[in-house]
Amino acid sequence: MNPIQVSLEQLRKYNQPGPRYTSYPPATHFTENFELFHTCAGVKPPLSLYFHLPFCKRQCLYCGCTNIVTSQQDRSAVYLDYLQKEIELRRPYLDADSDVVQIQLGGGTPTFLLEEELSRLGELIHSNFTVNPQVEAGAEIDPRGLTLEKVQALQQAGFNRASLGVQDTNPTVQKTISRIQPLEVVAQANQWVRDCGMTSVNFDLIYGLPAQTLDSFSQTIDDVLTLSPDRLAVYSYAHIPWIKPFQKALESKLPNTETKLQLLQLAIEKLTGAGYVYIGMDHFAKPDDAMAVALADGTLQRNFQGYSTLKGVDLHGFGMSSISHAGGRYFQSEKEIGPYYQALDDGRLPLVRGYNMTDDDKIRYAAIMHIMCNLYVDYAKISAELGVDFTDYFKADLASLEDLEKDGLLQREENGLRVTPLGRLFVRIIAMRFDAYLQAEQRAGRYSQTV
Ligand code: SF4
Repeated sequence: MNPIQVSLEQLRKYNQPGPRYTSYPPATHFTENFELFHTCAGVKPPLSLYFHLPFCKRQCLYCGCTNIVTSQQDRSAVYLDYLQKEIELRRPYLDADSDVVQIQLGGGTPTFLLEEELSRLGELIHSNFTVNPQVEAGAEIDPRGLTLEKVQALQQAGFNRASLGVQDTNPTVQKTISRIQPLEVVAQANQWVRDCGMTSVNFDLIYGLPAQTLDSFSQTIDDVLTLSPDRLAVYSYAHIPWIKPFQKALESKLPNTETKLQLLQLAIEKLTGAGYVYIGMDHFAKPDDAMAVALADGTLQRNFQGYSTLKGVDLHGFGMSSISHAGGRYFQSEKEIGPYYQALDDGRLPLVRGYNMTDDDKIRYAAIMHIMCNLYVDYAKISAELGVDFTDYFKADLASLEDLEKDGLLQREENGLRVTPLGRLFVRIIAMRFDAYLQAEQRAGRYSQTV
């Protein structure tokens, strides 16, 4: 694969605020007026399960996650009791005999859990759901404090994917963000997950962190490449001190916008130069990894965990703040642990916000997912799938693409719309043209920059 070349001018021009389209409409549209799930007779889509495990031992200063920092190890056992209650309350709304094809543990730090707690979580899942033998079961892993026993507990619970939080290997950057994690610690974690049979091992990196320079980030990329991850996610640091006040400590050392764009440019050129396929937005994968294969054969999907290789699944999130998407409806749980526990103590589902998609939402959702995931919209195919004439329904949206076509982000062909390799980087910008809600929100300045 040829390295992708991107100019700073293009990065500057398209560095605009926008949603990440893990849902449509974005979660900012969820309200307290929503209808609960209903069990539907007939079609039983496969299930994807997400478990939010919020605890962390320390606060990383760049963090934007919904987490709880605590030194009290026993809090995770209590949390598991509540997860169990939630599963029991939710079961009547789920087709428990539907195949579970995907499981994801996110956080916080899932590996905050003791090894016996990881085993207990595995038992909870397997005793309440029908897990397909081919399940893709992944866990976010903090290499710090990881033990071989924890990885073995995950393996025995059926986990076969791992995502390691790396961020940056430079000692100065690590000190500044308050996350000390020598490369040897990452190498050890990588070795353990591979020894335990985990495939599609992903590393998360972040660009735009304080004290990062082009030289230091170049070295970070060289360092992680020595460990040959199957996938890499290179996220933009999101500075949101009005939500996460501890991020203020980083303010004086943040790279300026120009340097941040150069860091991204460097990452794209180095990783594609090293043979990784650029999937889109922040994701890279080896050509033989399932994600790159799914991109090539048009089966890539997008959900709250980012890109996914599974299609047509109902997503059920468990734990505080988690989001579900099933049957054209979205639901979100209580964001704070106190109200989350209280709801379950009262025997209530902890779901407090949601959204019932309209027909227009469903059509636009499908169009946006085709653009974000397949990087190609086949007009005849999508028209048949959606039951509308695509070029007619989206006449105005398609006409608005002229400037993006001129800049080489896409090609409007006779039978379809094609995102170019350069357009993958700005795929959110293309998707935004099909978003009926966006104009008002852009005016309200609600989103982070696309880069
Ligand atoms: S370990 Fe992850 S969730 Fe916890 S503070 Fe650090 S970045 Fe945030």
